[in-house]
This record gives sequence, C-alpha cells and structure tokens, in this order.
Amino acid sequence: MSQLNLRVLVIGGGLGGLCLAQGLRKAGISVAVYERDNSAAARAQGYRVHIDTRGEQALCECLPPSLYELFLATRGQESKGLTVFSVVDGQLKEAATWRFPEGGSGEFVTVGSAVDRLTLRQILLVGLDDAMHFGKEFNRYEQQKDGTVRAFFVDGTSATGDVLVAADGVGSRLREQFLPHAEVIDTGVRWLGGRTVLTNELRALLPTPLVETFGSVPGVAQALLFGLVAFRQEPNQAAAHLWPGLRFHDTVDYVFWGVLAQRHQLAVSDEELNAMPGPDLQRLVLALGVDWPQTLRTLIEQCRPDQTFVLKMRHAKPIEHWQTTNITLLGDAIHVMLPNGSGANTALRDANLLSRRLIVVASLGTPLHQALHDYEIEMLRYGFNAVRASLQRGRAGPSHG
Ligand SMILES: Cc1cc2nc3c(=O)[nH]c(=O)nc-3n(C[C@H](O)[C@H](O)[C@H](O)COP(=O)(O)OP(=O)(O)OC[C@H]3O[C@@H](n4cnc5c(N)ncnc54)[C@H](O)[C@@H]3O)c2cc1C
Repeated sequence: MSQLNLRVLVIGGGLGGLCLAQGLRKAGISVAVYERDNSAAARAQGYRVHIDTRGEQALCECLPPSLYELFLATRGQESKGLTVFSVVDGQLKEAATWRFPEGGSGEFVTVGSAVDRLTLRQILLVGLDDAMHFGKEFNRYEQQKDGTVRAFFVDGTSATGDVLVAADGVGSRLREQFLPHAEVIDTGVRWLGGRTVLTNELRALLPTPLVETFGSVPGVAQALLFGLVAFRQEPNQAAAHLWPGLRFHDTVDYVFWGVLAQRHQLAVSDEELNAMPGPDLQRLVLALGVDWPQTLRTLIEQCRPDQTFVLKMRHAKPIEHWQTTNITLLGDAIHVMLPNGSGANTALRDANLLSRRLIVVASLGTPLHQALHDYEIEMLRYGFNAVRASLQRGRAGPSHG
C-alpha cells in the first residue's frame, strides 16, 4: 500500500470527528465520516461549551484559515469558564468564587470563550459534503487479511479503509468491540437542563460576573448551574463576510442551565426521564428548586419545551495502553469526563494531534502503527489528566476572593 493513499474512516461526526476530518482534508488525505444521525440538525445539539487555548489551537491548525476566522467571529463572550466558577445566593448576588488554577488539569489554559456547540459544529461541517455520510450507524468492524479494516453499518452497507477512528462519543460501539474492558462510570447524577432565550429582561436580572463565568445556585437538588452564550456579533452577518452562502440554524443569545440531581432524588426511572416531554421535565425541575429566587424559576419556565434535555453524568475509568492496531479512538469515545471538564477541548486536541501524526505517515512514510502508538500514548496522558481534573473540580468547594 502506498502511504500516500491512506484512507481514514471516522465513526461519529461530533466535534472531534469533524475536526479530524477537516485536518486530514486540509492535508489532502482521503477521509470519510460516518454519522448515525440523519442530518446535521437531527437533534437539539446546541449547548454552551467553553473553548479555551487547547480547542482554539486545534481549530486553527485543522480548519482552512477563513473558516477559523468564522469560528473566531461567531464565538460568544469571553469567559473565564473552566478557571472561575461563581456561587450565587438566593438573591442572585455573587456569594463566592471557585478558582481552578490553569483550568485544573495542570496544563496552561487561558481565558476562553463561551461557544455555541451547534454553531461550531456547522462550521466544522463546511466543505465536507462529499466526505460526510449521514444516517450511517456503525455496527461492527472486521480486520482484513490485507491489513485494512472494514466497518459495517446497521443499514447493511460497509466501508473499507487503512485506519478506523472511534469518534462516536460516550456510548461508542466501536470502543465496546475494540476495548471491551474499558469502563465508563455512571456517577448516578442526572443533568436536567435546557437553554432559554436571553431576553433583555432576563439579562437585566442576572448579576454581571455571571456573564464571564458559570454560576451555581445551591438548592434542594445538588445545584442549579447556568451560563450565557452572548454572540460577539450576529453569526449570519459574520458568515456573509467570511463564508457567503452559509446560514446558521439558530443564532439567538441564550442562557444554558442544568440542575444536578441524584438519581434517587427523582421519583422516576432513567427510561421515564429520557422519554419525559419538555413541560413535564420543567415541572420536575421547578419542584426540585422550590427555594430558588423567582428569576431562576422564570429562566426555567421561559425555556421552550423542545430545548430541554436530560444527561447522565458519566466519566471514563483510566485504562492502560493497548496493543496498537489500525483502530484508534478520540474524544468522549475514550476519555469521557463530566460536563464541567474540558471534553470538547480535549476531543479537538486529540483530532489535531491524530491528524498531525497521520499527515506524517502520508507525507514522510512513517510507519502507521508507530504514528498511532505515539498518538495514543500522548492522548491517554493528557486525556485522563483532564478526566481527573473534572472529577476534582466536581468535588472542590468555594473560596472567597
Ligand atoms: C451539557 C454539557 C456541557 C459541556 N460543556 C463543556 C465545556 O464547557 N467545555 C468542554 O470542553 N466540554 C464540554 N462538554 C463536553 C463536550 O461537549 C464533549 O466532550 C464533546 O462534545 C465530545 O466530542 P466527541 O466528538 O468526542 O463526541 P460527540 O460530540 O458526542 O460526537 C459523537 C458523535 O458520534 C455519533 N455516533 C454515536 N454513535 C454512533 C454510531 N454507532 N455510528 C455512527 N455515529 C455515531 C453521535 O451521533 C455524535 O454525532 C460538555 C458536555 C455537555 C453534555
């Protein structure tokens, strides 16, 4: 096989998988992404992610320059996100702050930005039309005698490549087959959340520091967390200059919120919770927060029912490096962490690192297994550092000043 003709198959078109595809495409390497959803807008996927130096660096290297410009222009406000957390009292006054040195992961991290995941995902999809295969749910793989790997999809089709990458998130089916001993721990905590349009009235009620940080209101349930996405400029206006023809789906400022509740605090099963219509979920959240100030209750009441969602809070257990083959993993598929961590930044960083390693294989003829081995060792080191940091952050207490 000529290394120049490397064919990379990516399972999962989330942030990590798409960033990898962009990086490979930029270098002229053949890549195909197989995504389970039927289209880019198949689910309500827009929530706030804090993107810091690590994510920005990866996007800068993987995206074409004008798309990176578009990412910068469509970010939300500057945010201290992962380094500072505000605790708010019943009157919505800042009562304390939690500070996490260097983002808590031991890595150098700057102040970042509040970014809308859906907007970022749309940017990551630009130019990949012929590489994207929607409605392709991965089922299993087979290693072939000629050194290639074949992926089989639920619809009965298959695809063959030289490298197969699991970028299929926390429930990764590819990881289940490839590393069946890898464990994902369910913390028993459920995130009942949503996004509420940030009206001028709501903006006026929220304390100023919360524009820059994520806020937490202790309550009957573990806590109510909330943070804003206030776009620096209207994303479609930015696109008109930088990428004419691109229209973003949803470009209003919003407050992203979530109540953390122990499963046993909820009188319903996980199945019932997942199937619960938006209005019922909102009622459940309001019942958990009987002692919240009216502003917070308004925040939840004003949320559109189709913008609510439920999440299991899970994290990966550290795993020893395995025997390298032509199958590898990135992002939540290998090192899922709590949402207070840097899962998106780490998935983007993985994508960048893996794309750099594969570029060296294609351009200089470095052996594929060596390149993947080096990627995996480095990714496991910083990836599980970030998992640990998210767990420590979850346990940390407030500090004043
Ligand atoms: C509420 C919340 C807040 C968060 N906030 C932050 C934050 O502030 N900062 C931060 O860094 N991170 C944050 N994260 C974490 C971050 O969103 C994730 O770590 C990141 O999206 C992981 O990217 P990924 O590409 O690995 O997986 P995903 O983005 O989950 O993408 C996986 C993709 O694979 C597809 N897929 C799944 N199974 C299959 C299959 N069998 N076949 C084909 N396709 C499949 C899925 O449909 C999906 O599109 C947050 C997460 C949540 C839930």
